[in-house]
Amino acid sequence: MRLPTRLTRALVRLLLAFSLAAGVMLVSSTVNQAAADGCFTWNRTLSQGASGEDVRQLQIRIAGYPGSGGHLAIDGAFGPATRAALVRFQQAYGLSADGVAGAQTFNQFYALQDDDCTPIHFVYAELDDGCGGSGFDGGPLSESATRFNALKTMWQLEALRHAFGDRPLIVNSGFRSIACNRAVGGASNSQHLYGNAADLAAGSQGFCRLAQQARNHGFGGIFGPGYPGHDDHVHVDIRTSNAWSAPNCGIALTELAAAEEPDI
Ligand code: ZN
Repeated sequence: MRLPTRLTRALVRLLLAFSLAAGVMLVSSTVNQAAADGCFTWNRTLSQGASGEDVRQLQIRIAGYPGSGGHLAIDGAFGPATRAALVRFQQAYGLSADGVAGAQTFNQFYALQDDDCTPIHFVYAELDDGCGGSGFDGGPLSESATRFNALKTMWQLEALRHAFGDRPLIVNSGFRSIACNRAVGGASNSQHLYGNAADLAAGSQGFCRLAQQARNHGFGGIFGPGYPGHDDHVHVDIRTSNAWSAPNCGIALTELAAAEEPDI
């Protein structure tokens, strides 16, 4: 039998080089998977006392977990309320609920967010101009501020959706421009003008269960069955004071809700 020729040895070296390169690529793609996220990548573990843009991005994603009747400030400062919301988020997704955001929490965010930073089950088009137009301009706020409000609304809707075992929510109406709001007879102070609101169809959850559950996910405005004009949808919005009314669902009229114009 002949010993390996120079050509054979060269081939072996080549194959070895290829397999090493493939191995390196495999390892690096595993390590960098999270870093390849198209929306936002967290680069450090976050716990109480931290502050910065990464905390703010965390808060946007857990704002639907402030506890019953609560509202989480999106201020970039990781305080006790952020920690409590994070624990609830971690519990909701079966993660270790330690109130510290590390790889496990961030990977859950990566799994939940699209490249445009919306949660995977919602898109901007569901919440943009309710009169058949598109986009978030023509309201009292800037286009970008309105769009950001819609983003926050979607993350809270994602939390509401998850609470029902990830059954779909149907959004009938979101942002309305001033002209659109006037055309549909909306209240002059409607939260729809600001990108803060969504009108939900009954879906498989039913109006009352949606209205009741929304109280746990940071929605300050909740109007449903029994409140004038709201027997065929549940209105939720992300204002940070609680104006709730769905008398047919056991949600009494709050003082703030009583001050609302009925058609909001
Ligand atoms: Zn509404």
